[in-house]
Amino acid sequence: MMQLAIPLNFIGTLYREISTGLIDMEAMFKLLDEPQEVIDTPGAPDLKVGQGAVAFKDVVFSYDADRPILKGVSFEVPAGKTVAIVGPSGAGKSTISRLLFRFYDVKGGSIEIDGQDIRHINQASLRRAIGMVPQDTVLFNDTIAYNIGYGRNGASREEVEAAAEQAQISAFIASLPQGYDTEVGERGLKLSGGEKQRVAIARTLLKSPPILILDEATSALDTHTEREIQAALDEVSQNRTTLVIAHRLSTVVGADEILVLKDGLVAERGNHAELMKLKGLYFGMWERQKAADAARDQLAKALESE
Ligand code: ATP
Repeated sequence: MMQLAIPLNFIGTLYREISTGLIDMEAMFKLLDEPQEVIDTPGAPDLKVGQGAVAFKDVVFSYDADRPILKGVSFEVPAGKTVAIVGPSGAGKSTISRLLFRFYDVKGGSIEIDGQDIRHINQASLRRAIGMVPQDTVLFNDTIAYNIGYGRNGASREEVEAAAEQAQISAFIASLPQGYDTEVGERGLKLSGGEKQRVAIARTLLKSPPILILDEATSALDTHTEREIQAALDEVSQNRTTLVIAHRLSTVVGADEILVLKDGLVAERGNHAELMKLKGLYFGMWERQKAADAARDQLAKALESE
């Protein structure tokens, strides 16, 4: 019986969220991917969003009981500010974004938005307040206008175009034979990772959430694409409480605070200049990145001269 009860509950939640138009496409795919871990308490109230300040208070979390991932992580993202999380692969960076989106509940401590513990409010209202630009955006088999307009029910073509402009993808769309009416997705034009990410940014600009989670693509992008995406991200994070899950260092330089996560704890924190002065883990990560960039440039030059 238990085996049946969980999927039914899960489908019920999914149906409710889709039918009320509250669900993000990202969230839907995530929900389909991952077992439902979190259930609303009956009658849980809506999140009351004020300025959108986020606080992690001594958060402890593990997926499996015998392997702790976060061992007591505390930080605040003040309203309108940007906090970036860096650290080695597997340190738990993306886990932090999943916990804020409440795909899982914390095992210890709490996560609060404007002073409200996110376990005590309903998930639909939480996800309305948060925009997620995921590592890999899934596109609908529909036009590019539809894929952007999905960010907000009833968005006009002008609003879709303005969002695309801000997300630095309008020139690319203009170059397509059918412009905004070009079919994309599996059965249409395939977009590159960078283009898909900018569609996700445009969609998020339309949704205009007070809180934003940017989970950067891990894959290396060429410098030009990286610059365009950075400009789009700067646009979308302006005046919004933003948590950046950073897999590349270049995107964190302007953050108000950078957390270096290691072995389930915040090992260093500060802005870029402060962390560089510390000559610790963060400094070491930059040194390694510089060496890797230099080696890549050398290789590119050698290939050119062949
Ligand atoms: P990367 O930079 O490589 O993306 P990360 O710091 O974002 O890494 P997480 O994705 O948060 O790392 O994962 C942290 C740890 O938790 C990893 O060891 C990972 O294997 C483990 N993990 C992630 N998701 C699950 C899951 N659903 N079940 C069990 N373990 C998981």
